[in-house]
Amino acid sequence: MKNYDVIIIGGGPSAIITGVTGKKQNPGKSFLMIKEEEKGLVPCGIPYVFHDLGSVEKNMMGPAPFVAAGGEVLVDTVTDVNFEQKKLTTQDGLEFSYDKLVFATGSVPIVPKFIKGYDLNEVKYIKKSYNYINILKEKTDEAKHIVIIGGGFIGVEVAEQLAKFKDKKISLVEMREHCLCAAFSEKLTHLADEAIRKAGVHLHTSAKVTEIIGTEGNVTAVKLSDGTEIPAELVIQAIGYTPNTQLAQKAGLKVNCNNAIIRDNYMRTPVKDVFAVGDCSGAIGFITGREDNIMLASTATAEARILGYNLFEINLVRTFSGTLSVFSTEIGGKVFASAGAIKQAAEAAGISYICGEFEDVDRHPEGFADTSKLWVSLVVSPSTGIIIGGEICGGKSAGELINVIGLAIQKGVTVYELVSYQIGTHPLLTTAPTKYVLIKAAEAAISKIKPC
Ligand SMILES: Cc1cc2nc3c(=O)[nH]c(=O)nc-3n(C[C@H](O)[C@H](O)[C@H](O)COP(=O)(O)OP(=O)(O)OC[C@H]3O[C@@H](n4cnc5c(N)ncnc54)[C@H](O)[C@@H]3O)c2cc1C
Repeated sequence: MKNYDVIIIGGGPSAIITGVTGKKQNPGKSFLMIKEEEKGLVPCGIPYVFHDLGSVEKNMMGPAPFVAAGGEVLVDTVTDVNFEQKKLTTQDGLEFSYDKLVFATGSVPIVPKFIKGYDLNEVKYIKKSYNYINILKEKTDEAKHIVIIGGGFIGVEVAEQLAKFKDKKISLVEMREHCLCAAFSEKLTHLADEAIRKAGVHLHTSAKVTEIIGTEGNVTAVKLSDGTEIPAELVIQAIGYTPNTQLAQKAGLKVNCNNAIIRDNYMRTPVKDVFAVGDCSGAIGFITGREDNIMLASTATAEARILGYNLFEINLVRTFSGTLSVFSTEIGGKVFASAGAIKQAAEAAGISYICGEFEDVDRHPEGFADTSKLWVSLVVSPSTGIIIGGEICGGKSAGELINVIGLAIQKGVTVYELVSYQIGTHPLLTTAPTKYVLIKAAEAAISKIKPC
């Protein structure tokens, strides 16, 4: 039986970044990554395979940097792990022993068995699998009536892309009042719904799917709670993901209320030398300190970098405890982004807050042809002035500006500090120095804390 110093189970962003960081830090140690499929894909790029990228080949991602650093890769599925003997078995009957073991087994789409007809032919999912998406791309190319169930990021992005084909009718069904409710406040979800409709998607909100109707095993329509029947040849379920933890649980690891592997701030599980990272592992909300259900490539790779440095001893001390979610997406050219605690999250956690808002154009002066409106809202703790969250809506710059807010949250920056924030501005690139949106939003928050 071959032994490796480190074995990583998985081939997604967490596995790749843990592998490449860990191997570079420990060039003398042997590393093996065991992944299910030979070809990998950028999970966040999947929606764009259906139109803007045009093919799954243009959305490939693999462990090349890990291999270049000296790591080995095996395409196989791990079926059993024995913690006492520190060994594992694969589907092909291979056995390996390890010193350190990393679970990076990710997440899988939730299958809504409670919806009648969920098992009909052509009811599909957005699986993070190269082979599956390759086949799904052919099916979306052929189908003229496609219904997407679930108005979260993935459902919205896939619908927006498919609606770019003018010969298709794309319907999106969301049971809540607006799409993207978990990530944005009412104002932005309202604007997002408008952008989705403008992009040509037939949007049904406050609408619950009661049945997927079919004849001879094939989908023909989707039925809603109000009796509406939407004709469909293809249905894409996008109602969420669940951590892929069957293997870990079989081996004896405990999961939290979200089905995610319990681990500490350094990705260590309670079993010595066994780690869990990324979507398969539990997250603790940065403000509430409670279990949170955050599954993002950005947070997964941040955790993977920390784990890569700390596999053998703690070299990189984690100064920020908890996981900060930073979301962004683009619908029909409009960017929607949020970081940390948005209004409803603060309310649910019983945290008092005020908001400081400001809107301006993203260039200056306003006369340039390609300006977009840029709206910023900072969520602030009124007793300390500390920024705990934020939202932005606007052009492309919103995607990076939200990361500035993310950094401010992580560093505990107050709105008082933000008003003296040293910035660089340029007419073609940023908002005006006289009314820089982040600073004006901070001023708006201060005026609410201490009216002047
Ligand atoms: C359509 C879509 C769009 C997204 N967009 C964004 C975005 O814009 N920004 C963002 O931050 N996040 C986004 N995400 C979320 C992001 O993709 C996930 O957070 C990320 O993939 C998590 O990485 P991971 O490595 O932990 O898990 P995964 O990517 O799920 O990888 C897990 C890997 O483990 C392998 N595996 C599982 N079990 C075994 C086994 N027993 N043996 C061997 N291998 C195994 C799987 O085959 C898979 O390769 C998106 C997700 C989707 C689906």
